[in-house]
Amino acid sequence: MQLLKDRILNEGQVVGDDVLKVDMFLNHQIDIPLLDEMGKEFHRLFGDREINKIVTIESSGIAIACMAARYFQVPVIFAKKGKSRNIGDDLYVSSVYSFTRLDSYLITVSKKYLSAQDNILIIDDFLANGHALSGILDIANQAGATVKGIGIAIEKAFQGGGDRLRKKGLDIQSLATIESIRDGKITLADQ
Ligand code: 5GP
Repeated sequence: MQLLKDRILNEGQVVGDDVLKVDMFLNHQIDIPLLDEMGKEFHRLFGDREINKIVTIESSGIAIACMAARYFQVPVIFAKKGKSRNIGDDLYVSSVYSFTRLDSYLITVSKKYLSAQDNILIIDDFLANGHALSGILDIANQAGATVKGIGIAIEKAFQGGGDRLRKKGLDIQSLATIESIRDGKITLADQ
């Protein structure tokens, strides 16, 4: 998606060799018209798949998922992060290794909101090594929900998570794909 690619190239800040900061439009300050276009694009890509729920992880995925949900006219469920006081029969639980925090955390979704009747679209802001997505996929699997597609705002292809998950047969569509980050220079894939 050209609009997002331009914003990454013009405003994205590189931290080290593999982290991209997009706090100015996605991860801290949120540019609503941009996210609206992203939501529209996800609907163009996945709108024909009879999706009845969008699933994401708090916090950065929520805004994108909500903008997409306006086009799909379905609810958004976000997996909650961190230890829950009442882990028990009423929650699906998975563990996610965090690339940015270098530590693992739990994600939980209430069994009230996800079941085998659901056809879901998973949305997240970044796909790097694929740990966050694997956690949501694990929860979808526990619920018996059908994953109809996965929409990612920014995929960092050089970290390999997208390739690994696509090999399992998942349909992952990324709005912008970063091929490499070298000496502070971002190279995007032609899409
Ligand atoms: P993965 O689990 O695929 O390794 O990483 C995805 C998660 O880590 C995303 O949900 C995102 O929050 C965070 N993340 C990974 N790489 C980046 C990055 O370069 N910039 C930002 N802002 N977050 C990232």
